[in-house]
Amino acid sequence: MSLQFNLAYAESYNSETQRVRRMSEKWLVEESYCPACGGRLAEYPNNKPVRDTYCEDCGEKYELKSKKSSEKGLLKLPEKIVDGAYATMMQDMEAQTTPNLLFLQYLSGYTVASLLVIPKQFFVPALIEKRNPLSKTARRAGWVGCNILLEPIPQVGRIPIIQNKVFEPKDKVISIFQKTLFLRHQQKLEAKGWLLDVMRCVELIGKEEFTLQDIYQHEAMLKDLHPDNNNVQAKIRQQLQVLRDAGFLAFVGRGVYRVV
Ligand SMILES: [Zn+2]
Repeated sequence: MSLQFNLAYAESYNSETQRVRRMSEKWLVEESYCPACGGRLAEYPNNKPVRDTYCEDCGEKYELKSKKSSEKGLLKLPEKIVDGAYATMMQDMEAQTTPNLLFLQYLSGYTVASLLVIPKQFFVPALIEKRNPLSKTARRAGWVGCNILLEPIPQVGRIPIIQNKVFEPKDKVISIFQKTLFLRHQQKLEAKGWLLDVMRCVELIGKEEFTLQDIYQHEAMLKDLHPDNNNVQAKIRQQLQVLRDAGFLAFVGRGVYRVV
């Protein structure tokens, strides 16, 4: 699998943004694969504005965002990814029609250095930052865009496909993607937000086995994120039940849990 953009696809475009968009989309369908099932990615016949590609095998939809990076810049993920219209994002999220997000970083010379997938089941309003409206002099005056914040996403929702110019094992990528599909059954965004926050706490504990007390250590953070809730501990226990039922956690004994 090549990590090099094919420059031939850029020939008929003048703007660098368009050139990169075209080359990166082509690279994706020719050299990468669907992280949900390993199938082949394809482009929509007539370039729709948002949903760039889909999987021919399982039908998952993907939006690709690309960013130029320096070798040094690769060491740390950016804090946020610039995305499209704020209103569209919020509507899609409510309707559960948000595409999965692929984030690609390339180096000068158009070599792909990293590729990350954020499965759509991780999208909740807390990740979306509203940008200021474009100024009156802008071509699209008043238009409001959004950023996607990466930091609040649990690690398990930021799946590397390529890291430091090396493809991760395909089976590993697919199994991580599949592991959190249960989140899609959660229709209410508020309830999903709670689940994701508790998943983050489990990651922060950083142990394979942990106790209820370990997770209560993060009660203040959860209270900050959900100021209207007056019984955070009960809410935590409820989320742990959901995570157990989904096979994400196992109950080992009284108040002891294991990450599966
Ligand atoms: Zn697929």
